[in-house]
Amino acid sequence: MVFDSLSKIGGQPQMLYPFKKILDIPAHQEITGAQLTSELTNGLINKITIHLNTKVTDLEQNDNGFIVNNNVGVKTIIIATGNGAFKPRQFPIKTTAEENQRIHYFIDDPQKFANQTIGIFGGGDSALDWALELGNLVKIELIHRRDNFRGLESSVEQIKQLSSAKILTPYLPKSLSLMDNKIEVELKKLGGNESIIRSFDHIIVAYGFKADNRFVKKWDIELHDNRIAVQSEMKTNVPGIYAIGDVVTYPGRVPIIGVGFGEAQIAITSIMRNLFPQKSLTIHSTSL
Ligand SMILES: Cc1cc2nc3c(=O)[nH]c(=O)nc-3n(C[C@H](O)[C@H](O)[C@H](O)COP(=O)(O)OP(=O)(O)OC[C@H]3O[C@@H](n4cnc5c(N)ncnc54)[C@H](O)[C@@H]3O)c2cc1C
Repeated sequence: MVFDSLSKIGGQPQMLYPFKKILDIPAHQEITGAQLTSELTNGLINKITIHLNTKVTDLEQNDNGFIVNNNVGVKTIIIATGNGAFKPRQFPIKTTAEENQRIHYFIDDPQKFANQTIGIFGGGDSALDWALELGNLVKIELIHRRDNFRGLESSVEQIKQLSSAKILTPYLPKSLSLMDNKIEVELKKLGGNESIIRSFDHIIVAYGFKADNRFVKKWDIELHDNRIAVQSEMKTNVPGIYAIGDVVTYPGRVPIIGVGFGEAQIAITSIMRNLFPQKSLTIHSTSL
């Protein structure tokens, strides 16, 4: 049974960078976040139950294992919450419901912006990835409060080469209004009094996400720097609770997808050995 607080499964690759080409998934020269999610999901549907829009908040221990959110009984838990249930950092201006329809935090289909002008706010990798992805399709303006971007310098250089892209720095959004079916944003230049007005069909806010895993503390799980400390076999300090993926920490861990895949294999093998100690477990799929 899988529980996810979001409306889709796929975690960061699906929600934060569905169109970015990932180059470090073994056996794929390149694969986008959305394709990876789809390939991982194929074959799982009908075999497992997926509870979407379900943030796990409560865990109680009983003689048979655990009760999740006061209603589902399970024997063993694997926590794979990444950086935690993530919520986008909001655009810093109060907006109406009508304006909100043009302000986006997640994008699932860039084609719907075809022939439009899009303002992208942010300076990290997500903002740069969206600027590159959309800059090949539509007119974009990338607005950041500093002259230097936190994201990859090479991405900034590629954006500069796009004839459809404009970079505006150092600007902060000051006010916003709907005008003639466009969203008009007043941008204030930092370190001066100058303001400019830019007009967009839609805006994308890539100010990062608020997330934390502190909620596991109430289940007596040990954290190091906000991440779950695991022992060998991906065990937490609480028997029956394992943790894998970016939520865990141990010396030398690298926060990439391939590492999480390996950790899942380790945790599942350990769980199966605990559940069926009398069996000699097959490790390779070919001997199943
Ligand atoms: C912009 C960007 C680019 C990246 N590029 C690459 C790359 O090229 N190659 C690479 O290998 N890695 C890349 N990464 C890192 C990679 O995305 C992460 O290592 C990977 O997603 C971690 O997987 P995870 O399953 O541990 O966590 P996540 O992908 O964060 O998934 C965690 C899931 O748990 C859910 N969740 C959290 N808390 C709860 C709760 N309490 N109840 C229910 N559900 C909950 C979340 O909704 C989410 O779906 C990139 C990351 C970013 C941000």
